[in-house]
Amino acid sequence: MSNTTENTFQAIISHAKEYGFVFPSSEIYDGLSAVYDYGPNGSELKKNIRDYWWKSMTQLNDNIVGIDAAIFMHPTTWKASGHVDNFSDPMIDNKDSKKRYRVDHIIEARADELKEKGEVEQAAALLAEMERLLAADDYITLKTLIVNEKIVCGVSKTANWTDIRQFNLMFSTQLGSVAEDADTIYLRPETAQGIFVNFLNVQKTARMKIPFGIAQTGKAFRNEIVARQFIFRMREFEQMEMQFFVRPGTQMQWYNFWKEARLKWHLSLGLPAEKYRYHNHVKLAHYADAALDIEYEFPFGFKEVEGIHSRTDFDLKSHQTFSKKKQQYFDNDIDETTGKPFGNYIPYVVETSIGLDRMFLLIMCNAYTEEIIPKEDGTTDSRVVLKIPPQIAPNKLAILPLVKKDGLPEIATALMNECKTSFKCFYEEKDAIGKRYRRQDAIGTPFCVTIDHQTKEDNMVTIRYRDSMKQERIALSEVKKLVLDQLG
Ligand code: ATP
Repeated sequence: MSNTTENTFQAIISHAKEYGFVFPSSEIYDGLSAVYDYGPNGSELKKNIRDYWWKSMTQLNDNIVGIDAAIFMHPTTWKASGHVDNFSDPMIDNKDSKKRYRVDHIIEARADELKEKGEVEQAAALLAEMERLLAADDYITLKTLIVNEKIVCGVSKTANWTDIRQFNLMFSTQLGSVAEDADTIYLRPETAQGIFVNFLNVQKTARMKIPFGIAQTGKAFRNEIVARQFIFRMREFEQMEMQFFVRPGTQMQWYNFWKEARLKWHLSLGLPAEKYRYHNHVKLAHYADAALDIEYEFPFGFKEVEGIHSRTDFDLKSHQTFSKKKQQYFDNDIDETTGKPFGNYIPYVVETSIGLDRMFLLIMCNAYTEEIIPKEDGTTDSRVVLKIPPQIAPNKLAILPLVKKDGLPEIATALMNECKTSFKCFYEEKDAIGKRYRRQDAIGTPFCVTIDHQTKEDNMVTIRYRDSMKQERIALSEVKKLVLDQLG
């Protein structure tokens, strides 16, 4: 990261804390590494992003239904899914500092250094070589690459590395009170398996016909070895996943459909298209026949925010084997090539998987703006404004009586009561109006309404728009409608 982007990122983190978006977890005990809590504004924003996703999946698609599965699952789930055997990352330890690193992270950091020095081609070649070696599980040559690139530990500054090894990322705990009888169970590392094990329950009870989807949001846990970049990589986080069950052979058509549909969802929030790109996976997970990431340009570079994976019939087939319960679907549509119904089969699955916290960070990074504002007397002023898409902003409307007397708070309270059942409003009567506007800018409130003495005469108020700072007089009776119209 260059100094400017590093400073911007630090400013976003401080801002998130100062304005009640994100706090380090259990901060009075100095925090817990890579675990965070959401404050009053943060929890509103997070909920709004979740609702926006949920609505777009389960309300706007009549062939997608939602579930809410438990975090704890039968331990065999994770044998069947492959997580017990495969959910690991290649890691390397520095023998001097005893620090452990994810191999792809330290090589990517080296590539970033090369890019900053203008050696763009070398950086690209290094990343391509890394991808090739990771895909081949060739850890010996990968270590040679680290040594040849003279990559050193950030703490000890030495290149005294161990061999590369795999570390499982699942957290385990005990179910049951007596240690001897207790079963080891895992905190789910992804929400998807709760959907797979409920496939038939949902299909039958909701009477779904293929193709159909099951959506879920919820916590996932990964013992990330190197947790970095604020809420980008956490040990406890939330996922929003949708598994779409399709007829075998049609998976690529649906993969392409969801690839486009999901990018459109991001852009529907008014986020800039030039900050997005697709990244096709070179190394496919054990369950996938195609996979890509939707990447966003964070201040620390293009990084994954969402994954689209064609998971074949791997999961359902494996659960069928381990549980000895058939996971088949009977398709009575007619296959034109045979003139008969498609019959029984295990469906294929295309999944879309997005991190809610990562989407939150994306929104914060895109929204955070420091502006210099020229004033009429030739001097300048400055403001920090969060240009959060209005649909998901923590508060939609701030209602501000100019003074705390003369009947203005009464008018403001009546407006508050009229609007607050439709969208979230914020009421404030303290401090000068300019200061109050700045505070609303800082938490991303798209509209402010000021009630002044003139309002008593003509029932008009001043509405101020966050992004343009434009102000205009509108009828008090029009405020609610105007805000609702703008929220779409
Ligand atoms: P990465 O390569 O960044 O570790 P991944 O490929 O393991 O991610 P997936 O298993 O595809 O991620 O998970 C789907 C989504 O869940 C990711 O796109 C990301 O948004 C989110 N996610 C995964 N791990 C974390 C984490 N540790 N903290 C926050 N979000 C995460």
